[in-house]
Amino acid sequence: MTSMSDAIVVGSGPNGLAAAIVLAQAGLSVRVLEAAETVGGGARSAELTLPGFVHDICSAIHPLGVASPLFRTLPLAEHGVEWIEPPAALAHPFDDGTAVVLERSPDAAVPGLGEDEARWRRLFAPLVADAEPLLEDVLAPVHLPAHPLALARFGARAALPATALARLSFRGAKARGLFAGLSAHSMLRLDRPPSAAFGLMLGLLAHAVGWPFPQGGSQRLSDALASYLRSLGGEIETGRRVESLAELGETRPVLLDVTPRGLLELAGDRLPALYRSRLEGYRYGPGVFKLDWALDGPIPWRAEECARAATVHLGATLEEIAASEVAPARGEIAERPYVLLAQQSLFDPTRAPDERHTAWAYCHVPNGSTVDMTERFEAQVERFAPGFRDRILARSARGPAELERHNANCVGGDINGGAATLSQLVTRPVARVSPYTTPLPGVFLCSASTPPGGGVHGMCGYHAARAALRQLSGTSQAN
Ligand SMILES: Cc1cc2nc3c(=O)[nH]c(=O)nc-3n(C[C@H](O)[C@H](O)[C@H](O)COP(=O)(O)OP(=O)(O)OC[C@H]3O[C@@H](n4cnc5c(N)ncnc54)[C@H](O)[C@@H]3O)c2cc1C
Repeated sequence: MTSMSDAIVVGSGPNGLAAAIVLAQAGLSVRVLEAAETVGGGARSAELTLPGFVHDICSAIHPLGVASPLFRTLPLAEHGVEWIEPPAALAHPFDDGTAVVLERSPDAAVPGLGEDEARWRRLFAPLVADAEPLLEDVLAPVHLPAHPLALARFGARAALPATALARLSFRGAKARGLFAGLSAHSMLRLDRPPSAAFGLMLGLLAHAVGWPFPQGGSQRLSDALASYLRSLGGEIETGRRVESLAELGETRPVLLDVTPRGLLELAGDRLPALYRSRLEGYRYGPGVFKLDWALDGPIPWRAEECARAATVHLGATLEEIAASEVAPARGEIAERPYVLLAQQSLFDPTRAPDERHTAWAYCHVPNGSTVDMTERFEAQVERFAPGFRDRILARSARGPAELERHNANCVGGDINGGAATLSQLVTRPVARVSPYTTPLPGVFLCSASTPPGGGVHGMCGYHAARAALRQLSGTSQAN
């Protein structure tokens, strides 16, 4: 038996903590049970390399965190979050030694795109103008949109493959490459829908709110959520892996910050056969291979504009990035992997001692891959920053298996709680009036395996908690 609380949340990732906060705000006593020794799930930090070097173990950059309709209402600053916004959100270098830089800009200006500058503005400026209503509609389960025109403008393009939208919208290699790098966050093949949705959303966030990160590491965001929850009376027990729903006694509601696989393990035979088989058919996406470095100086970028952004995308052209994303989807390794890199210490000296630096990066690999990507990966960084390898003091490498050991929700190294295919983006984990409910009364899913999916925004937790509160008050039509 666990507690005398009104509600239990299993898992303290951003969605678990968000769900617990919404329940506590409604007056329920809430207990969070977390398998790991620290709170935060995919938003944690630790000294992975050398003493004094703070690395983000999973998430690093948080445009969705600052834009989240829930997080924006919480007193995160009072609980220790200080957002750092670098001068530019993103840099995207090319082999000719130049780079384009994406900045916060209400009119979506991207200098350096040449004739595509006006085209980029035409695509993004209307979205930036609609940012707030759009985010409300997009960061939610399927519903009658509150802002149908804004959503229709976004949706018509978002439903395309990124390669198609890039070729339709832009003429030059730079704009196409920039858009491909944004879209590849989807972890989908770029010739598949709705990969363009990710490019549009991340570009719009860069222009509208920037791509900031918390001073001191992502852990600060999780610690602030935990601290605010405790201020509302919530309790958190770490080091407590829940093996079965039976451990939780009769307490309801129970909100599970786990994937469909986690739900199958926890609920086992209690679930009706049809629902169980649909959960078994849920698809996970490619995995990631992650490297963190302790460096004795900043990364020596050939294009010096790269030092203005915390995030750098390495893959140059649409063709190269698209090929690199086809490989993991086919179970193959990309020889030149598309690399997403963050260099927070350039703007946050608390990350490393004595004017030294850290860097964080990952690339996509087949789900469950055991291939060591370090050589290929570092060759990509070296290509755009000759001399990079000489700056490495220490490195930490984590493949899919290590990521999953660290957090059971990273199934086979999938960092988004399931593939973001067209059907799974709108109906995750299964098609159901309220995707947060399960056939078990009072048992809800609240993880990134529910809408709106991966990322540190807490909106899956928010909507799951609202569904639980509706069921408690007997007003739910969802079952
Ligand atoms: C390498 C990497 C890089 C990323 N980069 C970014 C980024 O830069 N920006 C961004 O927005 N997002 C990023 N993400 C994605 C983001 O971290 C996730 O989408 C987000 O954390 C999902 O939140 P969640 O609460 O659904 O689940 P998680 O954060 O995965 O948390 C689930 C929690 O539940 C716990 N748990 C699971 N099962 C049990 C059990 N049976 N009993 C008790 N506890 C249990 C786990 O230990 C874990 O703490 C990244 C993820 C990874 C792995």
